[in-house]
Amino acid sequence: MEKYDVIVVGGGPGGSVAAMTAAGLGLKTIVLERGTRPGEKNVSGTGLSPKCYRDFEFMKEMKLPHERVATMATLHLSDDEAVERMSFSFTPSERAAYPEAREFLTVNVYRSELDPRLFGLAADAGAETRTSTRIVGVVKAEGGRITGVRTDTGETITGDIIIGADGVISTVARTAGIRQKWDPSEVAMIINIDFGAARADIDEAIGGNALHYWYSSVFPVGYSFFSAEGFHVGLGNYVTWWKKSPHYYLNRMFEIEGVQRQIRQCKGVAREFQNHMVTFLTNPTTTYGDSVLLVGDAAGFACPFEAEGVYYAMYSGMLAGKVAAEALSSGDVSRGFLSRYERAWRDSPVGEEFVGGEAIDGFVRGIGFNPEAGRWVIPMLNDAAFGLLNVAESHTASARNLPRLLLPYVPELARELKEDLLPLSARMVERPRRSARPGLVRLMRKALPRILPPLARFAARRPRSPYGEVVGPLLAEHFLTPYAEERINTLEEVERG
Ligand SMILES: Cc1cc2nc3c(=O)[nH]c(=O)nc-3n(C[C@H](O)[C@H](O)[C@H](O)COP(=O)(O)OP(=O)(O)OC[C@H]3O[C@@H](n4cnc5c(N)ncnc54)[C@H](O)[C@@H]3O)c2cc1C
Repeated sequence: MEKYDVIVVGGGPGGSVAAMTAAGLGLKTIVLERGTRPGEKNVSGTGLSPKCYRDFEFMKEMKLPHERVATMATLHLSDDEAVERMSFSFTPSERAAYPEAREFLTVNVYRSELDPRLFGLAADAGAETRTSTRIVGVVKAEGGRITGVRTDTGETITGDIIIGADGVISTVARTAGIRQKWDPSEVAMIINIDFGAARADIDEAIGGNALHYWYSSVFPVGYSFFSAEGFHVGLGNYVTWWKKSPHYYLNRMFEIEGVQRQIRQCKGVAREFQNHMVTFLTNPTTTYGDSVLLVGDAAGFACPFEAEGVYYAMYSGMLAGKVAAEALSSGDVSRGFLSRYERAWRDSPVGEEFVGGEAIDGFVRGIGFNPEAGRWVIPMLNDAAFGLLNVAESHTASARNLPRLLLPYVPELARELKEDLLPLSARMVERPRRSARPGLVRLMRKALPRILPPLARFAARRPRSPYGEVVGPLLAEHFLTPYAEERINTLEEVERG
């Protein structure tokens, strides 16, 4: 029986790049895809981040027929009555870190075009590619060693290393005993409707402003993403969140005049209702086992902020291909050797995405995916903009009125800052590389708890400040004391090395 060095299960972006890498390194590689063609079940569009083009040479040359370059993104905020209260847009920064990031926000493509193209590149690199082949489990020899995979027709395919790139459900992960199903609280369900439209109509109505996010107090955060000749409108939340039917929330989103206008102006024709799952993990921990490496969604690598997953699938696929080659050349495919895969992805942009995982999760659950928060976040942002920019009164009067407008939001904002936003930024700040001076640590340990709370109390007592009474005690309770403690802990950690 023919034996492979590497069997890749799944011909999505993760699997194709894993196969491309393994075959490119001279390994006898096969990639197995259950669909009659890769990307078959993924009609809807996908936004590819600039990172894809920065890190993969083949992406620079890839031009897909229905791609639309998004040079602007817009966030729309609407209230309980589905009335849009404000919106704002952003474009790439001229000072972004690398050229592609300065040029575009995403390239919106169809997976039905992207996946076959990547699959083809894996074949070009020397991998054997097979479609219409569904894997039902790994095959184990006596003693439990994994020796291959089995298809739904009963065929056994033998190989030394299995790369599970079979998406969020991952038969490989489960049958290899690496993990069971994800906990429902870690997985989001995203529903959307895919529309077809003429390129000229989308060009006219949308152009490069091709990423729209819809934040509201009645449905979880939604989006409308536009590719060249189509767009999809949808929303999602954790599987455990839905209190009513998902269709109810989607209908509420479609009540927004701005959403309807986009569909009208693009003359969109609904093509398909879609329902997909994606993980929102704070820290992936089950990514390899004896003879097995998991990549992309199978490993839970979609980013925990907005579920960007194609880049992370491709990047982890590349790393898995390389680690497979190292393992085979050293004749060791044990879990012990393959643990270097986890070290490799943690030390890469994939791992970097999860440094703030828990804090991001707090923010997403607290605000992003939480329509309840929209009840104060949306009026607060609107009142801030109105307070600063309105011409209903003189600008002097408006400035004097600003505290009155914004103070009611301060308690909620303070709680959110403390629980989610500050931990988020604290986790993401780069820790100092050099050990702090012990003397400085001692000084700060003594000084911070003494100085900061009295400062806050002083602010609270200032009678002329309308902010003081509300803001001072909140600052002391929520921030200054915990911040002082956090700084001291950090300094102590650094001191201990
Ligand atoms: C609604 C939605 C919108 C998203 N939008 C974006 C976006 O805009 N940008 C972005 O970067 N990411 C986005 N993501 C995330 C992204 O789709 C995934 O992270 C990405 O597809 C992961 O790639 P993958 O190769 O790991 O898995 P997949 O793309 O899921 O590919 C897995 C492949 O394995 C095959 N397969 C599965 N089981 C078997 C089996 N038993 N035998 C053989 N083959 C099998 C499947 O047919 C599939 O081709 C979105 C996700 C969802 C749900």
